[in-house]
Formats: sequence, structure tokens, C-alpha cells
Amino acid sequence: MAGTAVVVGGGIGGLASAVALAEAGWGTTVLERAGELGEVGAGVALTPNAVAALGGLGFDDDAVAGLGPRTWATGTWDWHGRPILRLPGDPGLRAATALRGVHRARLHGALLDRARALGVEVVTDARVTTVAGGAPDGERAVVHHTDGAETAQARDADLVVGADGVRSAVRAALFPARRPVYSGYSSWRAVVPGLSAGPGLLQYWGPHAEFGTMPVSGGATYWYGYVRMPEGTRLDDELGAADDRFRGWAEEVRRVISATPSEAVVRHDVLHLPGGLPRYARGRVVMVGDAAHATLPTMGQGAATALEDGVCVGRIVAAGVAAGQPLGAALAAYDAARRPRCRALARASVSSGRFGSHLGPRWQGLRNAVMRRVPSSAVTRGARAVMGWTPPALP
Ligand SMILES: Cc1cc2nc3c(=O)[nH]c(=O)nc-3n(C[C@H](O)[C@H](O)[C@H](O)COP(=O)(O)OP(=O)(O)OC[C@H]3O[C@@H](n4cnc5c(N)ncnc54)[C@H](O)[C@@H]3O)c2cc1C
Repeated sequence: MAGTAVVVGGGIGGLASAVALAEAGWGTTVLERAGELGEVGAGVALTPNAVAALGGLGFDDDAVAGLGPRTWATGTWDWHGRPILRLPGDPGLRAATALRGVHRARLHGALLDRARALGVEVVTDARVTTVAGGAPDGERAVVHHTDGAETAQARDADLVVGADGVRSAVRAALFPARRPVYSGYSSWRAVVPGLSAGPGLLQYWGPHAEFGTMPVSGGATYWYGYVRMPEGTRLDDELGAADDRFRGWAEEVRRVISATPSEAVVRHDVLHLPGGLPRYARGRVVMVGDAAHATLPTMGQGAATALEDGVCVGRIVAAGVAAGQPLGAALAAYDAARRPRCRALARASVSSGRFGSHLGPRWQGLRNAVMRRVPSSAVTRGARAVMGWTPPALP
């Protein structure tokens, strides 16, 4: 029998979970601390596994195509603009590295529309302060939150989804020893309307830095500049600082930065969760997205795995319980399906950072020489292993 669920956080992972829960017949409420739901002005590269997850959430090919242009990973260049890994256009590799270049707000808006169409209740100005997890075969879970007037409220539920991002209050309540740490890196991101910067995802590596560009919906270009910086650095002029940091980089990097209006630029310090969580479920609470497994962005898999988690909350937990499985067994099955994969991706993201954008000036030449010898068949195999994920079957 289906039950009631409270999803904490209305980001990509929370909305994906809400859609999947509602599809399985659960009465679902999303609690979001912001006054308005939305996303930062940035892009996201939807890899094949993210597209498969969207399929599992009921998005057909036309709906996915409407999110943004089809594109692909074209390779990596050094900061002077010399290729260090060219990805040729052969069909196997093209399929394994196919992407949709999407504006985050468009993805978030599509998930929100679908959640509302399925009857999900979305409550804004609801900041969750703590959670009592309950027991899978006993007490219900209780979510404590404040409303817009800062008045304390509480709701109980058969299932709570912790989808409140890297600084998760749900994680702090249930796994207090597991805290996110600063990666040492901060990331500028911008979407520049009317700018064309090539048909594919391009990335440039330099000492302690990475710059990337990708076409997104509406004929715009998304770029990010990921650089080493002390935590909490305050800058008066973000665009000016990015321009300084990438001075002397490849012509294409310079062109994209100079075409950017200053109001388009945002910057966030990047945190992650080394070691991950010992379990992705506790009591009646299941953890998804950055709340469960915030990783370095060096493999571009954070939003993709948040979407995968959402599908699994629906297919493994919600549909499993609706089909008569005990909640405890369904939560254990979710943990077994998600934790090994997300831990492996988090570790791979750390290695990828060490060898890629986190590498210092001394090793650039050696690393680039090694990269130039990597055969594209190895890239195809690696991409398939990460991005060949497909949704689990319904029980
Ligand atoms: C520079 C950079 C580039 C990236 N590029 C990519 C990419 O190309 N591809 C990709 O797949 N991933 C990418 N990612 C990762 C991706 O952005 C995240 O992993 C993903 O957005 C996580 O989604 P989430 O829903 O778990 O968390 P969030 O998006 O952080 O959402 C959490 C939500 O919970 C709300 N919330 C927080 N606390 C509370 C509370 N106490 N009560 C109620 N609500 C609360 C927040 O307001 C927010 O709406 C990138 C990340 C970075 C930093």
C-alpha cells in the first residue's frame, strides 16, 4: 500500500524523488527553504545516464529534446589551446559521450511542472531544522521546520527523503559525524545568451584550474571556470576576477569571458563529502543527491546521480512498498543499489581532479604527454561504465 512522503529540498534530487514517489501513488509534499523555487543561472551537461533517469521519470524523447540541444564531449585542451585528448567522432564514442546541454533552470522547471501535474504539494519558505527518523516497522518519521513567519512546525510521514543538498540538515540530524569539507576550489559559472562557442563540450586544463564551455538551450553558451581559491573568498568584481585568473589562456577561453555580461556570472565554493555516508537510509529516511554523496564536479555526475537516486526512490522504495514489501527491506535494497555506485563515482571524481584540474604547474607537461597516448577505445569503455546506467525494473 502506498503511503505519505515528505521530501526535504526542492532541488533536482528532491523534485526527481517527488515525481517518482507520486508516480508510485504516494501522497508527496516537498519542503523547500527558499521563498521561490528555482536554480542558479548555469548549465548542466546531461549525460546518457541522466537522460535514462529522465525517461524513468516519465519524460519522453520529445520532452528531453525540449530541454536543450544534443551535444557531445569533444576532448580536453591544455590552457594554451593545444589538444591533449581529442575525442574523434566515431559512432561508438559519440553515443557513449552524447550529452544534452541544458540550462539548469529549464531542467528544474520541467521537473517542477511534472511534480505539480502529478499532484505533489510544494511548500516554500519551509526550512527544515531537524528530523526524527522513526523506525521502518514502527514510529513514523517527524520533520521539524519553520514557516515563512519563522514559526516552528512539524509533519509526520511514512517516508522522508533527505534531498537538502551538500549542507543537509537531514544528514546533520541522522549522521552528525559526516560533515562536508571545502574542496579547495571555487567555481564561476555563467550562461551567455547569443554566444556560440562550438558545437560540443570543450574543456581546458591548466595549473589548479579548469575552464569549460558547452552550448545550451536558446542558442546560449554555458561556461564554468573552476579554480583553486581559499574558502569564503569575497570578490567585488567576479567577472573581472575570472578574467584575471584566465589571462593568457587559449583564445577561445578569452573570447567567451569577454563576451560575458557581469550580471551573468555566479560563483560557488565547492564542498564535498569525503568518505560518503555509511548508509543511505536510517529509520524511515532515505538520502539522495548531494545530501547523500556530494562529489567533486570533475566528472560532471552530481545532477545525473541525483536524478538516478530519484528514480530509485520511486522504483525500489515507493513501488516496492506499494507492492507489499516491508519498508525496511525496500530501504536496504535502495542502499545496496545506490551506495556502491555513488561511492565509486565519488572516488573516481577525486582521482580525476588529482590528475586533471587540481594538478599543479610542475606536472602539466608529463600529464599531457600521458593523456595524448590514451586510445579512444579506453575512453569509450570508461564512459560506458559510468554513463551506461539504466533505471531498475519496477517490482
Ligand atoms: C561547478 C559545478 C558544476 C557542476 N556541473 C555539473 C554537470 O555538468 N553535470 C552534473 O550532473 N552535475 C554537475 N554539478 C553537480 C550538481 O549541480 C549537483 O550535484 C546537484 O545539483 C545536486 O542536486 P541536489 O538536489 O542534491 O542538491 P541542491 O541542488 O543543492 O538542492 C538542495 C535543495 O534543498 C534546499 N534546502 C537546503 N537546505 C534546506 C533545509 N534545511 N530545508 C529545506 N530546504 C533546504 C535548497 O534550497 C535546494 O533547493 C556541478 C556542480 C558544481 C559545483
